[in-house]
Amino acid sequence: MGEYINFMGQHLKIGTCEDLTDVTYEELKYMVEHGATKAPGGAEPKEYLTGDGWRYRFPFPSDNRSDLDKGVAVTVPVGWQMDGHERICLPLYARSGGYGINVFVPCPLGQDAKPEMFSAGPHARIVEIAQQRVVEGHLWTVVRCPYCQQKWRLTPEEAAQLVAHIRQDYSEKYTTSPAYWAEIADTIERGYRDPV
Ligand SMILES: [Zn+2]
Repeated sequence: MGEYINFMGQHLKIGTCEDLTDVTYEELKYMVEHGATKAPGGAEPKEYLTGDGWRYRFPFPSDNRSDLDKGVAVTVPVGWQMDGHERICLPLYARSGGYGINVFVPCPLGQDAKPEMFSAGPHARIVEIAQQRVVEGHLWTVVRCPYCQQKWRLTPEEAAQLVAHIRQDYSEKYTTSPAYWAEIADTIERGYRDPV
């Protein structure tokens, strides 16, 4: 179900169900504090800030909003378990009029994955930085498996590990866009440090 608010004469879609993929927490807070009103079918604007079930768009650097479900892939820090990958449903089409079949396979990054079931790679496990949600009065980072779409919210300890990992492995030495990654690391850190 779509989620909407009215702001400055406009009827704005902010997301679908708990995934408020169209707005960051700060954007939504600004709108609520500057006169946003309830839209038909939507919740009271301030409820979108106070309920703990909402997931907000991560404030990516220089985000042009071309991808409403944006995630940024990063290699998984050493020692992360990430249990709970989902099965993936792949449609298999028969040629010449046969009927299609859905095939269910384990996520290639999950525990049930066997090397012989997949093509080579990924060489390193990856995860996507995708969203934020309010937990205990702070903005926790939500990461997502790029293959099965399972999501995890990072505990403060895991977030600190990810920030350290990004600062070390996505520094000037290893990437052409260290400023981009530094900003992502700072944003994750700020979410856990500053109360909302
Ligand atoms: Zn997965």
